[in-house]
Amino acid sequence: MFESLSDTLEGAFRKLAGQATINEINIGIAMRDIKRALLGADVNYKVVKKLVEDIRLKSLGEDVVKSVSPAQMIVKIVSDELTELMGGEQKPLNLSTKNLPAVVMVAGLQGSGKTTFCAKLAKRLKKGGKNPMMVAADVYRPAAVEQLKTLGLEVGVPVFSLDEQDAMKVAREGLEAARRGAHDVLILDTAGRLQIDDRMMAEAEALKNLMKPEELLFVVDSMMGQEAVNTAKAFNDRLDFDGVVLTKLDGDSRGGAALSIRQVVEKPIKFMSVGEKMDDLDQFYPDRMAQRILGMGDIVSFVEKAQENLDLEKTIQMQKKLMKNEFDLNDFLDQLQQLKKMGSIQGLIEMVPGLNKMVPKQDLENLDFKPIEAIINSMTKAEKASPEIINGSRRQRIALGSGTRVQEVNMLLKQFAEMKKMMRSVSKMTQSGRKITSQN
Ligand code: GDP
Repeated sequence: MFESLSDTLEGAFRKLAGQATINEINIGIAMRDIKRALLGADVNYKVVKKLVEDIRLKSLGEDVVKSVSPAQMIVKIVSDELTELMGGEQKPLNLSTKNLPAVVMVAGLQGSGKTTFCAKLAKRLKKGGKNPMMVAADVYRPAAVEQLKTLGLEVGVPVFSLDEQDAMKVAREGLEAARRGAHDVLILDTAGRLQIDDRMMAEAEALKNLMKPEELLFVVDSMMGQEAVNTAKAFNDRLDFDGVVLTKLDGDSRGGAALSIRQVVEKPIKFMSVGEKMDDLDQFYPDRMAQRILGMGDIVSFVEKAQENLDLEKTIQMQKKLMKNEFDLNDFLDQLQQLKKMGSIQGLIEMVPGLNKMVPKQDLENLDFKPIEAIINSMTKAEKASPEIINGSRRQRIALGSGTRVQEVNMLLKQFAEMKKMMRSVSKMTQSGRKITSQN
């Protein structure tokens, strides 16, 4: 996520690293680089202009504190400004507990990730103790109703649909069904088209008036860059939505939409979607995002995700083993399975500062668990506990026993060594992350 922006900003900061003081000249150069980086990331021109000017004024106005280098100070100022730009504080979903069900209406262009988001949100709300229901009012794309039903089954949330092309009727009857079923949240998936057109907007407006949603969320594909911002503006002018959901951030190396949308439409980004899996949805925290963009990682989110999904007891045991260097191949398999539970591995790696540079992307994407399991199961107890004893002939025997090739056994042992290194740094960072969270 945002790799290219992070890299160019890092370059700008590096130039300042050797400087003892901040002056008009070095700030001028840094600002030019930052501006170039942001424009290259497809951030809205007006947004960039204002942001760079704010950063420049703040940098020159600031007294350089002795213990902080000019580069560190600028990074802090840029981080604060980016946070502000993306909306400052995290804005949670606002669901009333009075008028039940609270309606969350979801709108956006076709293909933006609306239907997927509805199911992810349903899963999240259910996990948080709500009893949601989804209503399939995307009636023009027949596959959309089927898709929502399939996802509904996957996340264990009921889906209301009718064999009708009348979205208003589906919504109305869906609302009644939700009341009958004592559901406290109704998530309404609406139709999108490939482009904004008047009929789609008129229908969305009518649905808004009928359903009086507590939250009208606009879903937009961040990979569309500036086009995402223009679409958001058009939807907001007509629908006056409450918040934005940015999708496909996992594929967005530039970040232009994330950085411009809030400023242009003046509505908070509430969620971000970072993959196709049902758990790949996070609340949007402007400060954490700014830190990620500046390559500082997002250890707070990582720790939260770990706490939500990992078996804490097991993790503590594992950390002890790691510290004592007793982490073996059985634990390796166990950890892989635990990591898998936390969602996309690549997404997790990106949250930890420096880790994405340590672990080659390809290795993670290619991780297939089945052969790994077979290989480990073909090892003796002693081999699992001390993989260093696995010599050439043992490797051959293991390959034969697991129906794999020696190269795969070699690869696994190499990956294990890498993983051990990685887990050790994750565990160190998780511990320091805990310290950070507990201090707050
Ligand atoms: P809709 O037409 O707006 O309802 O869009 P869908 O929910 O059908 O999503 C369109 C495609 O985008 C599907 O293949 C989804 O799996 C995919 N998708 C949705 N969200 C994300 C995301 O955050 N990351 C990635 N990589 N793909 C996503």
